[in-house]
Amino acid sequence: MIKIIIPVRCFTCNKPVGHLWEDYKKRTTAGEDAGNVMDQLGLKRYCCRQLFLGHVDLLKEVSAFKP
Ligand SMILES: [Zn+2]
Repeated sequence: MIKIIIPVRCFTCNKPVGHLWEDYKKRTTAGEDAGNVMDQLGLKRYCCRQLFLGHVDLLKEVSAFKP
């Protein structure tokens, strides 16, 4: 039901992050603080965290470059 719609790896540092998305989504929708969840998932770098935090906006930006 929940598809992995973020990149499998972080664009910037190449850390695999795709498998963390479901857990992140589950926990944040359950009311956990997004920052704490990312800390516990090992997302320490801002480049990875912005993938999770800003990923909807990022998709919008990317689609702006498509014909
Ligand atoms: Zn990264």
